[in-house]
Amino acid sequence: MREIIRYSGDAAGVFDTHAHLYDRKFEEAGVFPADVLRNASEAGITRILIPADNLETSRLAVAYAREYDGMSGISLYSSVGVHPHEASSWSKEVRKELEDLLADKKTNRICAIGEIGLDYYYDHSPRDIQRRVYEEQLLMAYELDMPIILHEREATGDSMDILRRLYKNGNMRGNVGVCHCCSASPEIATELVKMGFYIGFDGPITFKNNKNTPAVCEAVPTDRIVVETDSPYLTPVPNRGAVNEPGFVPYVLEKVAQIKGITVAEAARITTENALRLYEIEER
Ligand SMILES: [Zn+2]
Repeated sequence: MREIIRYSGDAAGVFDTHAHLYDRKFEEAGVFPADVLRNASEAGITRILIPADNLETSRLAVAYAREYDGMSGISLYSSVGVHPHEASSWSKEVRKELEDLLADKKTNRICAIGEIGLDYYYDHSPRDIQRRVYEEQLLMAYELDMPIILHEREATGDSMDILRRLYKNGNMRGNVGVCHCCSASPEIATELVKMGFYIGFDGPITFKNNKNTPAVCEAVPTDRIVVETDSPYLTPVPNRGAVNEPGFVPYVLEKVAQIKGITVAEAARITTENALRLYEIEER
């Protein structure tokens, strides 16, 4: 049984900045894009960004954003990039294919490069390859003047070394991107914000045994917070066990609002404004 809180704030609604709508888990659970978007719309979500993790899902993210944009009144956006898990798949040819998608970023509704980063928890790709592919995509994003979606797990030291070097060398734009599902310490998150990052919160902020994420939320400025689901994964309390979907993002908003001492409607308005600024989306 899923609970849904219905958000009724202003017309800008809520922006789920991270939902893998093409993931097979949705279909396996009998939930199809039309259902996901209808549920999301009922929960007050008006925009969703679909992130990629390899060449195949970059194409899928673009295809879904183009195909379903506007369904149930929801605007869809995409990102393209190679996740640290998939770093071994990186090649000149993959880069060229991503650049081809990016050449028509308006039609393809692409507003970021990602997910990119380092993941030493799973180590699905060798660490040296992860670092090289991460740095190459960071530089690619800088050259293309686009924000990134950062995925970092158990690799804060190496990730910060690369980011600090690029920052110091002037190879980082002011609006650098988002630290998605941020698991860094409050100190590191604060340093990321100083570099120009936004901080993304999702299901884990609602987990009872998680003390770090609420502390990060407390430490970072409200105007740098965005909300996300990372659906179909990381389902927030009280729906843990169900497949996550964008319609559950209000539970994350509720927690952010509680930590920041603002109303859910304010949290919705502010995080949506932040996401539009982060992804440089002009349509309202
Ligand atoms: Zn993700």
